[in-house]
Amino acid sequence: MAALPPAALACYADRMGDRHSAADARQLDPVARRVLERVEVDGIELVRFIYADHGGVIRGKAAGRSRLSERLGSGIGHTVAMMAMSMLDRLQPVEGMGPVGEVRIVPDPATFVPLPYASGAAAMLSDLREIDGSPWAACPRTFLKDAVALLGTEGLTPVAAFEPEFTLGRRLPDPTGGPDRLVPLDDSLCYAAAGFDLAHDYTMALVRALEAQGLPIEHYYPELGAGQHELSIRPTTALKAADNHVIYRETVRGVAFRMAMWASLAPKPIAGQAGNGAHLHVSLWDTDLEHNLFADGKGGLSLLGRRFIAGVLAHLPGLVALTCPSVNSYRRLQPRTWASAYACYGPDNREAAVRICSPMSGNVEASTNLEIKPSDSSANPYLSLGAVLHAGLDGIRRKLDPGKPVTVDPDTLTEKARARLGCERLPASLAEALDALEADPLLMDALGPLRSAAFLAVKRSEVADFARQDVAYETFQHLRAF
Ligand code: GLU
Ligand code: MG
Repeated sequence: MAALPPAALACYADRMGDRHSAADARQLDPVARRVLERVEVDGIELVRFIYADHGGVIRGKAAGRSRLSERLGSGIGHTVAMMAMSMLDRLQPVEGMGPVGEVRIVPDPATFVPLPYASGAAAMLSDLREIDGSPWAACPRTFLKDAVALLGTEGLTPVAAFEPEFTLGRRLPDPTGGPDRLVPLDDSLCYAAAGFDLAHDYTMALVRALEAQGLPIEHYYPELGAGQHELSIRPTTALKAADNHVIYRETVRGVAFRMAMWASLAPKPIAGQAGNGAHLHVSLWDTDLEHNLFADGKGGLSLLGRRFIAGVLAHLPGLVALTCPSVNSYRRLQPRTWASAYACYGPDNREAAVRICSPMSGNVEASTNLEIKPSDSSANPYLSLGAVLHAGLDGIRRKLDPGKPVTVDPDTLTEKARARLGCERLPASLAEALDALEADPLLMDALGPLRSAAFLAVKRSEVADFARQDVAYETFQHLRAF
């Protein structure tokens, strides 16, 4: 990485009218210095330091240009309480996350992106750190980094991609005086060519904005529900995949807001319409990323891959509390909706929780991967992917066997047949999933005491708050947050 050219540095210091800025800039590592250069060249005024919280909401604070060199090193001060905040902005009583205490939102300069949909602004994905700079026990991005490091000790490198669906429309008042609703932009049919045209201007703005931020588009198509679209991003290493998903969520909504539209990745944004999944694709590679260890060399899944499936299935009841963590998530996880409702696996089975994806010809090894269907965009992607990795690794370490694959829609089987296959119904509500999480020592241990206490408190408060409200309120709040 080239150092900041002296001319750009001088220009930066001069424009800031501040000798300290130049001194701060000189102490930064080359990647951070490059951020200052980009800010200067691109005319960026505000840089958002963003993170995802326990409610799955993406939040942050922005640094002004004049103090950026300082903030790159120190981060921005933040109350510890924000990791005890629910998606309804209701603070929960969590020990260690009260009104006293401070962390720092410390950006990762390698994630710097000017925001194509927000002129003059840029963003960086951030860690939450203690004041002394050490990782904070409740930092979600650190949770994923630690999971990746743990797999690294076994010579395994996870590669992943979130495959999100979202609904595009307009925010309109409810004629009966209820909360605002998302009214879909189009009513095109599933994969119907008309859908490409009806949403074309938005789609092109979105595609260009994602590509400009370094997210390579894999596929795009109009999906089943009215206003529903799916646009997938190519797989990459785990931390980057989660960072990408945060950028993706921000961009889907940011582009829509700029075009006076409303877009939502909420799991069930419109009752009676298809839900929005964010299926999670995973494979494990060797340390040098040369070989996909899920590929058996004969076009099938390796023993390692089977064990990973077994680990995911073994932990699935608690795992879905992290991968499908909102009250609204459980309106999506219904049988016969291709969202998955049973803990089973199968080759190209779109009703199974884990689908073994058939590899693509000409690219068999690299394209061998597992698709985890009970996953949606109300999740904190660092927690959900990190937890999936812990579960899969447990299957590998304990040499678990996933049993027989299910090759039909499990909902068409009798209860007896499902029981024979060990194919259990997934938790039917967030409350059930949270109980399962609390009863899962491996996941609880991986989360650690502070993170698990905060996550459970936040999520249980959401269960209680939405239980007192109707569907229209629940839908609106999820549209607002996601
Ligand atoms: N919309 C479905 C879901 O909620 C997925 C449909 C599909 O892409 O197979 O997961
Ligand atoms: Mg889809």
